[in-house]
Amino acid sequence: MSDLQLDDVKTDENAAMVLLVDDQAMIGEAVRRGLALEQNIDFHFCADPHQAIAQAIRIKPTVILQDLVMPGLDGLSLVREYRNHPATQNIPIIVLSTKEDPLIKSAAFSAGANDYLVKLPDNIELVARIRYHSRSYMTLLQRDAAYRALRVSQQQLLDTNLVLQRLMNSDGLTGLSNRRHFDEYLELEWRRALREQTQLSLLMIDVDYFKSYNDTFGHLDGDEALRKVAGAIRDASSRPSDLPARYGGEEFAIVLPNTSQGGARLVAEKLRMSVEAMKIPHISPVAGSSLTISIGLATLTPQQSSNCRELISAADKGLYLAKKNGRNRVGIE
Ligand code: GH3
Ligand code: MG
Ligand code: MG
Repeated sequence: MSDLQLDDVKTDENAAMVLLVDDQAMIGEAVRRGLALEQNIDFHFCADPHQAIAQAIRIKPTVILQDLVMPGLDGLSLVREYRNHPATQNIPIIVLSTKEDPLIKSAAFSAGANDYLVKLPDNIELVARIRYHSRSYMTLLQRDAAYRALRVSQQQLLDTNLVLQRLMNSDGLTGLSNRRHFDEYLELEWRRALREQTQLSLLMIDVDYFKSYNDTFGHLDGDEALRKVAGAIRDASSRPSDLPARYGGEEFAIVLPNTSQGGARLVAEKLRMSVEAMKIPHISPVAGSSLTISIGLATLTPQQSSNCRELISAADKGLYLAKKNGRNRVGIE
């Protein structure tokens, strides 16, 4: 319902705002006098039916009293207009008729009226009906406002959970996936590759001579260098299923699902060259060097009896070979 927004919902559910639409000023006066002594009932009178919708939008009545016979505009058409307008479609309408006539009554209800009174009604009855319809309308508004608020807070909860999930999975220094998420993801992809009998590749990446980098430039510059290397690792992980992660310290990893050894080797070589091309100055192994990485590569098609630790261990052996053979290279066991 778009009649009212949350802020507009009056806090006092016993308060009523009445709009009487009737061409006869005398009726307006009579109803005004009848309601004058009532607590919490505001009264507005509209003598021009052509202004009725505009006035209803302005004053936001909780009940409309609608005359049926007016010159220029049929009261029933006006009832239909209230029902078709988003701002007035749910406001209770009590039609005021000059006579008790089943045909008119039936037409009024099918046009969308909620109640039917013969003019001029007894004051006690009029007040009772106004209060009854007004209160049920207020309850409706409050219920809708509560639902809207609930939907907003549910959405906020979902958003917060997403942010939390992202924080829980990511490494604070580099923004890559952390070790916890890496372990989860590798296990998941291992099982998928087992089911589908596809190749799963893993790169283990270690920064060369990084202890010496820290000792030379300090830990803050060391951290900055790790962020740069992490950026290159993120760029190298081009498929949506590739997962770049910080494995721990100055060690990183990329999980490459559904990737052959040849494909993984291409990714690894490209990454190795891109770190070299950043030309981050270093003094090891010799003065004037640039920071480099070594990469261990392993590819497996999982078997029933196997475990994803085998893949990590094979990539580790590849990394050891790369270090042993001179660093700044890709090693495969
Ligand atoms: P190698 O070429 O054999 O890999 O030599 P290395 O010095 O890089 O190897 P090692 O594993 O002995 O050193 C790792 C160093 O990485 C130890 C520590 O100084 C540094 N390091 C680990 N984690 C961090 C970190 O979060 N920030 C910074 N600045 N340095 C780190
Ligand atoms: Mg290391
Ligand atoms: Mg190292």
